[in-house]
Amino acid sequence: MPTIAYQDLFDRIDEAEVVRVCRELVRFQTVNPPGEEQVAAEYVARLLGRAGFESGLVPLAAGRASTLGHLRGSGERPGLLFSGHLDVVPVGAQGWTYPPFEAEMADGKIWGRGAADMKGGLAALLLAAQAVAAACAATHTPLRGDLIVAATADEEAGMRGARSITDSLAPIQAVIVAEPTANTLGLAERGVLWLELTTYGKTAHGSMPELGRNAILMMTALLAELQGLPIPFTHHPVLGDFSRSINTIAGGLKTNVVPDRCVVSVDMRTVPGQDHAAIVEQVNGLIARLQARGEGFSAGLQVLYDLPAVTTDPQNAAVRRFAEAALAATGRPPETRSVRFATEASIYVPALGVPAIIYGPGDPALAHQPDEHVPIAQLVEAARVYALAAVEFLA
Ligand SMILES: [Zn+2]
Repeated sequence: MPTIAYQDLFDRIDEAEVVRVCRELVRFQTVNPPGEEQVAAEYVARLLGRAGFESGLVPLAAGRASTLGHLRGSGERPGLLFSGHLDVVPVGAQGWTYPPFEAEMADGKIWGRGAADMKGGLAALLLAAQAVAAACAATHTPLRGDLIVAATADEEAGMRGARSITDSLAPIQAVIVAEPTANTLGLAERGVLWLELTTYGKTAHGSMPELGRNAILMMTALLAELQGLPIPFTHHPVLGDFSRSINTIAGGLKTNVVPDRCVVSVDMRTVPGQDHAAIVEQVNGLIARLQARGEGFSAGLQVLYDLPAVTTDPQNAAVRRFAEAALAATGRPPETRSVRFATEASIYVPALGVPAIIYGPGDPALAHQPDEHVPIAQLVEAARVYALAAVEFLA
């Protein structure tokens, strides 16, 4: 049984401090690309260090790094990973009601790029980590396993920050990813498969198209077939269906030149049971069929991004334990939902073979949108849930 009292943990999570840390994190302009997360990573490392964690940076590139902190336990149990990312997506062309990097407060919310996705969640994780460390120190009760906090770079582009730390994490019982779920339990996310297709033609003067081979016309033929390609999948009760969307296209040089190249990118989102390699093979098969028809068709395929679908069994002991912590902290059992976007769970789960729980403050629909914000009440609630979860898993 935990010897750290819940109320003691709650008392150590001060709303003003959660707000301060969240606002400071939002003010670091960690827009990816280029990322430039190092200054924010150093801030997190200092905060964890002051709290009693062994913390340091894991460099990624010039000006880019993740933070990894360990609150050392006695080693009787595997650890627990808290994970949040430092980078944010660009602010976009639309106007914002509040400036995106000033973290203004209004209507009980903090406004800014990353407030929901996910500097709010990261701030809540940090406050929880700090509260747990202080409670352990005050009661002279070390945890029985390590509490590990990761603040990662590059989640929004290639998840290289998460990839760079997986070797330093084992053994752990579970990972808690603080992506915005409006403090509901996310136990499943679809996989991501991004394909780039290129058709190769031959230039000619636009007045003599018969002398060239038109890469754009080849692409229209390929896209028509791709859109109708029967890619098998089984409807998933939580995640729904497989989807595909052709989202970028580029080709041609000038109105009077036959294009020799056309490139598209396709965003596919997969459900459990689909094999990404088999999908790639199917699309390559389609290209081969079109090439076999003759007519000078030529195309190639490149995989841009490949993350598996992730599901965690709701009956898993780690999920039940986390749900108990959420119930104790909030007075109500957490609702379970699917997560529409991919998270770093897709890196940790296959690499470490552990269950992932996605739970964090902020409305997931606001991620990557203008006027992103996070309700302060959800920030505090999430910090309390994380703190209790750490004690439930580790004390
Ligand atoms: Zn995110």
